[in-house]
Amino acid sequence: MKLYSTNNCKHIASLEEAIFRGLPPDNGLYMPQHIPQLPTDFFEHLPEQSFQQIAVTVSHALFGKAIPLPDIERIVNRALNFPAPVISLNSDTHVLELWHGPSLAFKDFGARYMAALMSWFLQRRAAQTVILVATSGDTGGAVAAGFYDTPGIHVVILYPSGKVSPLQEKQLTTLGKNISALEIEGTFDDCQALVKQAFLDEELRQYISLSSANSINIARLIPQSFYYFEAYKQLMPTHKPVIFVVPSGNFGNLTAGLIAQKMGLPVAHFVAATNANDVVPQYLHSGVFTPRPSIPTISNAMDVGNPSNFYRMLDLFGSTWNNLRKTVSGFAFNDEQTLQAIREIYRQYGYLMDPHGAVGYLAWKAYQSRNPGTQGVVLATAHPAKFLETMTQTLGKAIEIPDRLAQLACKEKKSTVLPAAYDAFRQWLELKFKKNKT
Ligand SMILES: *Cc1c(COP(=O)(O)O)cnc(C)c1O
Repeated sequence: MKLYSTNNCKHIASLEEAIFRGLPPDNGLYMPQHIPQLPTDFFEHLPEQSFQQIAVTVSHALFGKAIPLPDIERIVNRALNFPAPVISLNSDTHVLELWHGPSLAFKDFGARYMAALMSWFLQRRAAQTVILVATSGDTGGAVAAGFYDTPGIHVVILYPSGKVSPLQEKQLTTLGKNISALEIEGTFDDCQALVKQAFLDEELRQYISLSSANSINIARLIPQSFYYFEAYKQLMPTHKPVIFVVPSGNFGNLTAGLIAQKMGLPVAHFVAATNANDVVPQYLHSGVFTPRPSIPTISNAMDVGNPSNFYRMLDLFGSTWNNLRKTVSGFAFNDEQTLQAIREIYRQYGYLMDPHGAVGYLAWKAYQSRNPGTQGVVLATAHPAKFLETMTQTLGKAIEIPDRLAQLACKEKKSTVLPAAYDAFRQWLELKFKKNKT
């Protein structure tokens, strides 16, 4: 498998380079040079295949000879050990639940698959790496859970002390083993600055191998395409065209769906659903892309003012607005509408939908009213219990908390408090990792 940079198609990288670099040196984004079309008999036999078997076939088609098939099977079985079920609210409105992984959000698919892939490459060269992650709360949890107990990889998470929710803090600080949590006496921006400075510290990098687990890494994007096949499989008995509705922030999830379509998955249309951060719906409407500072909303994982995967999406359509908008429609909704949707979905179907999924539901209703007779799958990107306060206040009742979340409250927090100063951070890294070098 070869990848190119969206800024310069002549900049070519191997899969291993793309994964460990994260970003091409020209600040573009890595894209597969060749997106293979899967054979028709693969689609005919989808119903007989498990989610894991589908993931193996898709990975193998993309990777080519980069990773031997038996190893791909091991990577998939290790990473994707939870389901992606489709729940039907009625005959034309379905929900793809992507929150059955350890951190209860769809980012588990990307984080766990990336961890397994990185670990495979590292073991082959008998190497180790330290992953530095700055988090304002949510993404750190998925990365921590995804990389937990992965051979060859240590994860260091920096979070702003007192500025993440108690639940998020538990997700970051209770795993132990190869996951270290640094509680920085500063802001999220301070955490990000410390990570950035470490990556620029050539001397440090001579004796500690550093990597990132950024959401734009191609290893996080690829596994997100698998569940589009899985959802399509579950809806094959309906014999009706399928429309995917994707609650979006950085647009990785939607880009992965477009890749699945390019591999031959017969998706009729995509609907991009956003909160008030609506630069992509605006673009689809007007043809003008105007990034803006982000606006805080109740669906905060989608508060992105300059979506980094925008240029990947565009790249898939020859950088042509007219082609992109034939395949993707966009709708945006505010917080008030989102809260109303949470209540409506619960009242009509007895179904608990988190604020991100609720934005998707609204976009589906908007699309459906203009295109009657279609069926849609709304991606439910997080478990509603992750947004306990919003859910209980909106519905006026307590909601059930899954065991793996409830257990977190009883676990002991383990973190190291550090000032927001590079010297202290560097010293901590040296003490922890320098002596481990063989
Ligand atoms: C990250 C996230 C999103 C947005 O996904 P993108 O791939 O960035 O568009 C939506 N919902 C939840 C719960 C998320 O964590």
